[in-house]
Amino acid sequence: MNDNQCPRRGGQAVIVRYGEISLKGRNRSQFELGLKNDLDWFLRQNGHSFSSISMQRGRIYIHGCIGLPDLEKVLGVYSYSPALEIPRDYEALKNASAGFMPAIKKSAHFRVSCQRLDKHFTPDSMAVEKEIGAIIAERTGTPVRLKDPAFELHIEIGQRHIYLFSEKISAFGGFPVGSAGKLVSLISGGIDSPVATFLMMKRGVWPVLLHFKVSEAEAAKVSRLRDRLEAFSAGRKIKLIVIPRAELFQGKFSGLFGTRLEPYVCVLCKYLMHKKASQMVKEEGAFGIITGDNLAQVASQTLKNLLAQRRGSDCPVYSPLIAYEKIETMALARRIGTYDLSIESVPGCTPPRNPKTGVKLERLLKVLEETGLK
Ligand code: ATP
Ligand code: MG
Repeated sequence: MNDNQCPRRGGQAVIVRYGEISLKGRNRSQFELGLKNDLDWFLRQNGHSFSSISMQRGRIYIHGCIGLPDLEKVLGVYSYSPALEIPRDYEALKNASAGFMPAIKKSAHFRVSCQRLDKHFTPDSMAVEKEIGAIIAERTGTPVRLKDPAFELHIEIGQRHIYLFSEKISAFGGFPVGSAGKLVSLISGGIDSPVATFLMMKRGVWPVLLHFKVSEAEAAKVSRLRDRLEAFSAGRKIKLIVIPRAELFQGKFSGLFGTRLEPYVCVLCKYLMHKKASQMVKEEGAFGIITGDNLAQVASQTLKNLLAQRRGSDCPVYSPLIAYEKIETMALARRIGTYDLSIESVPGCTPPRNPKTGVKLERLLKVLEETGLK
């Protein structure tokens, strides 16, 4: 936004819209309050000066807000608009709309769109649009165009104030982080699992991260990925549990290489990860597991392998990326700021030469018995 476009002389405010929270039933106010608290924390943490935050009819208003906060970081926010806040008075509205005229004068065409959140206000929305539109058109010489205008002046009539704005910035939507409960997230240093974790956070999940490290560098990378996810956690620390991968195999890992069991190492490894994760689910009071699994992404991510490796756990496994295209995941990773870190290369696991692409469950159970890892 530039100040030229959106004059905020008078009361400066930010209108915050939330998406699905508004569809909630009886516990709606609990979600709204959670979002309000997260916004409050975010603004303070990022040094934004504001006077107060209020909730009215499906909107949260940040009053007296200096500067434009990056509210994409607050999960639950669907979109937001920097706005001019004026008294709920029609004459004041006519005067305030003049502040937008320089920008409208520079535009090829414009329209005025009015929404009355409070239907008691007169005149009604259409009359406001017509009259304010006519005044602006006359004073700027810019024609009105209702479809795809170059400039759209929004007028929102609230219960206590009127807001004028020209911009709607979209954010992620979803629910306040933590409002749905806790899940244990299996996180590697790759691109997928941080994105999968984020997607579940966006649905209100509070994640506890579980990583099986091969090297210290890998563990340090995952710790930095945790920091990136914390940008969306409304100030709360995300717990990261790191366990050496060797522990999963009880010292038997290298002994499997060069034997006929070598091709089973990957499925075995994932089985053991799920087993440990489901133990953590109980210890952490969580409700299930998150993974970054993606069907057919690599030759080993087959339905057969997924069935076999998930038998290690006895709780629900959530894999929001299961049907994503890699390109979609990468775009999201860039947007949430994990991509550049995920592609940094660090010493990781040594894969077997010919990993099995479709291990039958019965076969895996036999391998587990044979190795004594069950
Ligand atoms: P990512 O899937 O995160 O890009 P990756 O491709 O290295 O990483 P895969 O081999 O595809 O991982 O494993 C599928 C899923 O298993 C991961 O998304 C993650 O949830 C889990 N996982 C893999 N490696 C680890 C690990 N070292 N620690 C914890 N979980 C892991
Ligand atoms: Mg992967």
